[in-house]
Amino acid sequence: MRREIQRAEKLHVLGQLAASIAHEVRNPITVTRGFMQLLGESELATKQQGYIKIAIDELDRAESIISDYLSFAKPQLEKLEVVHVNAQIRNLVNVLGSFAAFHSVELLTELGDETSIEADPAKLSQVLINITKNAIEATKNGGRIRLVTLRQKNHAVLHIIDEGIGMTEEQVLRLGNPYYSTKENGTGLGLMVSYRLIEVMNGTVDVHSKKGRGTQFTLTFPLVEAQ
Ligand code: ADP
Ligand code: MG
Repeated sequence: MRREIQRAEKLHVLGQLAASIAHEVRNPITVTRGFMQLLGESELATKQQGYIKIAIDELDRAESIISDYLSFAKPQLEKLEVVHVNAQIRNLVNVLGSFAAFHSVELLTELGDETSIEADPAKLSQVLINITKNAIEATKNGGRIRLVTLRQKNHAVLHIIDEGIGMTEEQVLRLGNPYYSTKENGTGLGLMVSYRLIEVMNGTVDVHSKKGRGTQFTLTFPLVEAQ
């Protein structure tokens, strides 16, 4: 009990801190990015264009870290709505289509019965993007990712299955820990945020993985009718 209160207090403080950092830091980032872009449009040597690209990429990275922290620190669901799971998956394929194509990865959908859950559509979308982006990044050129939906009793079930690099049991246990990343320019925040959001939307997440073979993420949410 005591621990729970302490945790709630910490989250509250973290939330306030994150909100003020985001507010204070976002503006200068946006301004700097704008000037960088203007610089990039002027006549510059290739080498200098390269520097500007790096600078803009790094500013974008800072922005994505801020976004991740913000959604973690403010887990309360502002917009609970009835969300159609299959529609969310179609939307996901649209959003990540070019990212997948860039990595030469194919996104295959296997949509089962229509299911509806109660969720914040923007946050559910963020969760699906984070998990599927990881799947794409774990997959070699020419690989496929299966996005499967089905109805199981009173639950909507969603599988994100890749045939990528996979993980050891130890690695799976570390998923969701802040800053845990095996990537050169990873933030290690994506799954921490996603796990938290799934929890507040009354969902569960299950991971099966085999090193060198692939990974399956399974998300389960209570159906709206069942509540
Ligand atoms: P990031 O993507 O910035 O590294 P995440 O929190 O999204 O941070 O993921 C943390 C780590 O979990 C990744 O660096 C990777 O090692 C591992 N991981 C997540 N999803 C997969 C996957 N589908 N296949 C293999 N490894 C994964
Ligand atoms: Mg990630």
